[in-house]
Amino acid sequence: MSNYNDPRLSILNVAQKSKIMILRQVSNEEFMARCPFCGDSEKSPQHGHLMLNITKDAYHCTRCGEKGYAIGLYARLHRINNSEAFKELMNMAPETVSKIEIKKIPQSPVANINERDKVYRAFLDKLTLKGEHLQNLIRRGLSWEETGRNLYKSVPTSPQERLRICNELLQEGLNLKGIPGFFQVQKENQTYWDFYSNNGFFIPVRDIQGRIQGMQIRLDDDHERKYVWFSSRGKLSGTSAHAWIGVHGVPAKTVLVTEGPLKADIAHFLSRYTFVSVAGVNAIKGIEQVLKELDAKRIFIAYDMDLKNNKNVQKAKERLEKKLVQAGFEVHDKTWDERLGKGIDDYLVWKKRQKVV
Ligand SMILES: [Zn+2]
Repeated sequence: MSNYNDPRLSILNVAQKSKIMILRQVSNEEFMARCPFCGDSEKSPQHGHLMLNITKDAYHCTRCGEKGYAIGLYARLHRINNSEAFKELMNMAPETVSKIEIKKIPQSPVANINERDKVYRAFLDKLTLKGEHLQNLIRRGLSWEETGRNLYKSVPTSPQERLRICNELLQEGLNLKGIPGFFQVQKENQTYWDFYSNNGFFIPVRDIQGRIQGMQIRLDDDHERKYVWFSSRGKLSGTSAHAWIGVHGVPAKTVLVTEGPLKADIAHFLSRYTFVSVAGVNAIKGIEQVLKELDAKRIFIAYDMDLKNNKNVQKAKERLEKKLVQAGFEVHDKTWDERLGKGIDDYLVWKKRQKVV
């Protein structure tokens, strides 16, 4: 329950009193809403990034990084201070209880890394990579052999195929419980396993030992978003994906940090440098441990060049720099002429072409 245990101060009540559009419950702890700070994605009004946590009565935008607690949210949006916000909220009747139903969906805690690695490998082994996805990866600068080594596979979308694959995995003695992406479906007294699917291909995200921690999906171009985690958050016996930090390469003194595991795979392949990928510029929790395990000394931050004028990215970058300097690393910025490519991968592809010419 909330810190105050008062419905007037709950995050859902505050959001409604602040005219924030609440879209849906995404898990037992969170609702998704439209972000009033960054305006959220204009193209699809049904998509939101503002997560409202009902156990902590907190908010956090996964797009712009704005975060805080219920009273502070009301204060900010009404341009008043926190004690004024507290008084105003206490003087109004709450609306949460009547308008929003909070469902309780049983979830599974995440399985350990060895279990996840085992299931994901057996799973990927049953899948193929469609020609269009292979072409996409080659266009990005990877070789055919590298796409095989990295185990990119197309996501199966037909329900029959998904059911068959889940049954095969279960018959092989694998436990799908606690594996992000997999969940159970209850229909007419029957329960069976399924997994999240959407048109696109899987990108396994490895740890320092090469174990698959989790997977992202690069969605086909008809989607507004490009990448999502393979996650079953909010589903029956489902499990959330974490924002896993990927390791691309072997332990090295110099390591580059970039955003996105596919970009890091490509940049590592083209440069042979070791890369560490974060899923988003704000998803840096635990990165210093990963870098220490890699025995890194010099860190280059190589975020996309078109983000250099984005205030939120700049703030996130400064936070990362500070964190790494405090942990004893030598930190540099990796920059290049943005006309040569937006991401470090694009830039490296450009460089390679220059050599060929
Ligand atoms: Zn936002």
